[in-house]
Amino acid sequence: MIKDKLNDENYGIRDKRGHWKPFGTISINPPREIFYNPIKLFKYFFKFPGIFFPWTFVFGAITVATYLFLTPSLETMKTFEVGWISYIFFRNAAIILVWTGFFHLKLKTQGTSFKYNPRPLEKHKKFLFNDQTKDNLFYTFCSAIPFWTAYEVVTFWAFANQLIPYVSWEIYPIYCCFMFFLVPFIRDAHFYLTHRLLHWGPLYKIAHKVHHRNTNTGAWSGMSMHPIEHILYFSGILIHWVIPSHPLVAMYHVFHAGLAPTPGHTGYEKMTFKNGVAIPTGDYMHYIHHKYFECNYSGGNTSFLDKLMGTFHDGSEEATKEVMARIKDKAHYL
Ligand SMILES: [Zn+2]
Ligand SMILES: [Zn+2]
Repeated sequence: MIKDKLNDENYGIRDKRGHWKPFGTISINPPREIFYNPIKLFKYFFKFPGIFFPWTFVFGAITVATYLFLTPSLETMKTFEVGWISYIFFRNAAIILVWTGFFHLKLKTQGTSFKYNPRPLEKHKKFLFNDQTKDNLFYTFCSAIPFWTAYEVVTFWAFANQLIPYVSWEIYPIYCCFMFFLVPFIRDAHFYLTHRLLHWGPLYKIAHKVHHRNTNTGAWSGMSMHPIEHILYFSGILIHWVIPSHPLVAMYHVFHAGLAPTPGHTGYEKMTFKNGVAIPTGDYMHYIHHKYFECNYSGGNTSFLDKLMGTFHDGSEEATKEVMARIKDKAHYL
């Protein structure tokens, strides 16, 4: 019998309080066997869902289309001018409005099907305007988009003036493709390091706590961060100030950072469509991080880092007991 792709009971269990979790435990990535089995290695990268499909591919496609059709020429960006800078700001804001807005509105119609936490997004005084969604929108458009744009603008300007090492795609296509391919992996490493730093007591209290007010996350929670966190979060693009790159590769870095938090924070394992199609939109590992704070600092592709550091929560009851014991003394999380 073919299992119904739209029924979450076929993919996980719901406890008495209505919290849903996927069957099994979270895997440690990358799995060891891919290093001595080329077929498994290939499948690990190219299966659906997997490392590249669907999201990494989608982030790359959006970046390429935006670079080709919605980005001023380097000649224009040689001098700072209000015109092209505000164009990039509103372009980025429009992309996020459509991108995250789609996830938010579509999943709202899905009720609690595939939703980790059955409760709706919060109306609570810990959020600006006493409303989680409005608060998240405020941090996204008043902090995330300005910092994202600032990094992008200064980087383009530096490329245009040859202040940072520029590599021509026409002359070095293989190198540029390789760098483009490498971006998500550099981001994983950067995310882990900055995220660990953000959980350092003082920095947590000043900055990262803003993101962690979202314990029951929604699509707009992804970029809801304190400005200090945005400065750190988007800083990965600075690597292209040192490593010779094409501007498109640098742009992909900051676009990947801007687009990825949306599917990572929806709070839904899958987005379903009436025609029977279901696409992965969840990150249960990161959902657990928002629930218990002191675990799962890495992204799903580098969960071995948490395993290595003794902070891995695989989704099981035992792991919850362990993490509860760890956070007992850390009053600042609560
Ligand atoms: Zn998060
Ligand atoms: Zn965190």
